[in-house]
Order: sequence, then C-alpha cells, then structure tokens
Amino acid sequence: QEDKFKKVVSHAKEYGFVFQSSEIYDGLSAVYDYAQNGVELKKNIREYWWKAMVQTHENIVGLDAAIFMHPTTWKASGHIDAFNDPLIDNKDSKKRYRADVLIEDYVGKLDTKIEKEVKKAAKRFGDAFNKEEFLATNARVIGYKEKGEAILKRMGKSLENEDLADVKALIEELEIACPLSGSKNWTDVKQFNLMFGTKLGASADTAMDLYLRPETAQGIFVNFSNVQKTGRMKIPFGIAQTGKAFRNEIVARQFIFRMREFEQMEMQFFVRPGTQKEWYEKWKETRLKWHLSLGMGKDNYRFHDHEKLAHYADAAADIEFKFPFGFKELEGIHSRTDFDLSSHEKYSGKKLQYFDPEINKHYIPYVVETSIGLDRMFLAVFSNSLQEEELENGTTRTVLKLPSVLAPTKAAILPLVKKDGLPEIARKIVEDLKWDFNVAYDEKDAVGRRYRRQDAVGTPFCITVDHDTLNDDSVTIRYRDTMEQKRVKIKNLRSIIKEEIEI
Ligand code: ATP
Repeated sequence: QEDKFKKVVSHAKEYGFVFQSSEIYDGLSAVYDYAQNGVELKKNIREYWWKAMVQTHENIVGLDAAIFMHPTTWKASGHIDAFNDPLIDNKDSKKRYRADVLIEDYVGKLDTKIEKEVKKAAKRFGDAFNKEEFLATNARVIGYKEKGEAILKRMGKSLENEDLADVKALIEELEIACPLSGSKNWTDVKQFNLMFGTKLGASADTAMDLYLRPETAQGIFVNFSNVQKTGRMKIPFGIAQTGKAFRNEIVARQFIFRMREFEQMEMQFFVRPGTQKEWYEKWKETRLKWHLSLGMGKDNYRFHDHEKLAHYADAAADIEFKFPFGFKELEGIHSRTDFDLSSHEKYSGKKLQYFDPEINKHYIPYVVETSIGLDRMFLAVFSNSLQEEELENGTTRTVLKLPSVLAPTKAAILPLVKKDGLPEIARKIVEDLKWDFNVAYDEKDAVGRRYRRQDAVGTPFCITVDHDTLNDDSVTIRYRDTMEQKRVKIKNLRSIIKEEIEI
C-alpha cells in the first residue's frame, strides 16, 4: 500500500498532474501546484460538483466571496479562540508532532501487532486446530483492541477538558509501551492556532491584522441576508461556493491529502429550526450518491458518525474514502444549528433573520453543511484510477482509469503515419471537436506508444486516422479501459464521445 502511494505521487509528477510548489527552490512543504493535466482534472471535479449542487437545484445558488474578510468574522466564528491543534516537540530529534495524530499513530502500531498475532495464529491453526490456543489468541486480540479504543477515548477527553498535561503523559506512556519515535524527551503540549495572519494597508499604524480564511463557509454566512433578499430565496435554500482556504497544518504529509493552501467546495443549506435532522440525513444520502455516481466502487466509501461534536454542531458525519493509506475523511456533513448566524448577528449588530410566511414567524435559520476538499477529492479519484494491468502478451500497462466525465483530455487524434495526407485529416478532426471537448493531437512515435501515453494520462478515447480513412471517411476508435477498437464514421465521432462522457 505504501508502494501504491509512492506510485501515485510519482505518476502525478511524471505525467504533469501535480508538482511540488517552487520546486526549483527545493519546494515548500505541503504546498502543491497543479500542472497541465492536473488543472483540467481539478476543474472537471469542481464542475461536476457545481452541476450537482447548483445547476440542478433550483433552491441552491452560488457565491464567490473574497478570501480576505473583516477580522471580526473569525472572532464570531470561534476560529480565533478555538481553531487549534495540540502540538508537541521531541527535544532529542527536534521533530514536531500533532499530539492527537501521534497518539493515533501509536494506536495504529497496536493494530499492526494485532494483525501479526492473527496471522501467526492462522498459520498455527492451519496445521492443527487447538482450542486453548485459539481462545488465548482471541483474548489477546480483544485486549489490544480494547486498549486502543480506551487510549483514543482518554485522549479525546483530555483534549476536550484542555488537560494538555495528560495528553503529554499519555504520549510518554505509549512511547514506553510501543516505541515509535525512539526518544522520551518531550516538551509540554501547546495549542497552536492554524490561521495564517497577514496585514491590510500600508502604514504601520493604520494597517489592519487580517487572516487568510481557514474555510469558505464564513463567506456564505456573512452574505446570508444579501443573497436571501436579492435572490428572494425561500427556506429551505442553499448557498454554495468553491475556493481557496488556508491552514497552517502542523503535520504536513500525505501529499495533497493535507495541504497548507487548498480548495474547498462547500454548501450551506438554511432550514427551519426543528427540521435540521431530516435535512442532515437527506444531505448525507445525497452526497454519498454523488460519490457513487462516479463509479469508483461502493466498498471504497463509508460513513463515520461523530460522537464528539464541535462546539457549533448537533450532528456530524464524515464520508470516508479508502485512500492508499487507509480509510480517511473526504467530506464532512455537519448540522451546525444557528450557531454561525446567531454569532454574526451578535458581533455585527445586524439582524440575520428570516421571515417564514408559512408559519408567520421570524427566526434565525438552522444550517446543514456539506464540505468537501477539492484536492482530497482529486487524490481519491487519481489514486483509485491508477492501475497496472498485466496484458496477454506478458507486458504490463499503466492506465489511469479516470471516470470519463473527469478526464483532462477526452480524445486523442492520431494519424497512423506522418504522411499521405493523414495528418491533415487528423488536424481537421481536432479543429472540429475542440469546441466541444478537450482533444489532443499526437503524431510522434509508433501508434502503440502513443496509446500508452494516453492511457497514462487517462484519455478515454484514441482516434486513429489510417489509409482506409482516405476512402471510407471512417476512423478507428480505441477504448482506454478495454482496449477494444471499433471502426466508426468521422461524422459520428462527436455524438459517440458525447454519449460516453455523460454519466
Ligand atoms: P481533518 O480532520 O482531516 O483535518 P477537518 O475535519 O479539519 O479535516 P473540515 O474543517 O471539516 O476538515 O473541512 C472540510 C473538508 O476540507 C475536509 O473533509 C477535507 O476534505 C478538506 N480539508 C480540510 N483540511 C484540509 C487540508 N489541510 N488539505 C486538504 N483538504 C483539507
């Protein structure tokens, strides 16, 4: 699995999807750039989301709020006081860790111990079943599992109670029980705010301290009244937006899974108080359906319902995806109550209420939010699509089986040879199709190598112009996933491709 992840990262670089930011200066940690193919894939994911959320919902409208917001926004939202991660330094290695992630890693190590036990036992039981031994192993395994759960619970409680000394004590105990970092010399645990600060204005005395937004949601809340009134929106309704968010993450690893600058796709759905549970369930289901519509395998998704809730929520769940490094959060669905709007009303002194003509009442709406990271979605799609296939002739091919609707290039047009008028016909097909889809033209190398290049960047169709084309106005269309080839008329190409890339 680690191998798979390494392949994902190197394939993303080699084929122009994702580069380390400022690589010529040795890069910037947890910041990435999207290259020629990556930018197309990312745009297609964003559009696929926008279509599902805004274009096809009469009662959901879009917004593009600024990244800079009035600093009081972040006081009202709770980010200044509570958007923290606990961190701890190891004095020997000078390494910095997120305390909660470190503890999870220790528990992960316990899990590995369990797996080893089970494997050993299975081997032994294969030879001769021994009831006593089976029961003893079983008890040990259960013991580990319970221990792991108890540790995570204790950590959750300590963090909730701001008992950071206990978090440190837990790390010290765990390091002795199952060594991970190799040294025992820790600093105290400190809370670290994840927001990036900056300044607005030139002169030192009048400059205003600002933050780069750590989530897009607040841009929606502060615009609630403006949108509701100008759009004459009736509850229930939603406001959606995509855009950059910034977090000074302490643990910056796992490629584009956890970045310091990333993009979110969020929708805040405003509902009548008391109906939030119903809408929360509905959005959980709707969002899972959206994921499944891409055909990436239903076993790769699962819900994780939160027991421990953020200060603003009355219910929360994650849609987790099976990344190469295991099941991890891809999207969050949160029932945020009226926390945000009430708080902005309090801090701004402006009424953020809605008059509901059906019940003849003013109230602050409740909010159900769906929030997904665009870059995380990119990683989910990209890693799931990257496959190595053994072919019948004994060779292997690397193929990126992206859902066609998301593929950066929909079709590559390939003249079989660089002469006899074939390039001219191929160029003409490109000219004709390029207004409808992204198409590529490639005449270099043998056609087999060109097919492989297109497989590696996920192009669903290769269209080859050969000598027969001169007589029958037909071309060969080759399907990426099956490698099947068909002869089709040039004039039918547009409709064939269109049909295949629609979901
Ligand atoms: P995590 O627990 O992984 O830090 P979170 O619970 O803080 O995530 P939210 O604040 O709910 O995440 O943000 C919503 C979504 O934004 C997440 O589901 C994830 O897809 C994405 N996201 C959050 N932080 C990052 C990040 N640092 N890099 C990339 N995507 C992120």
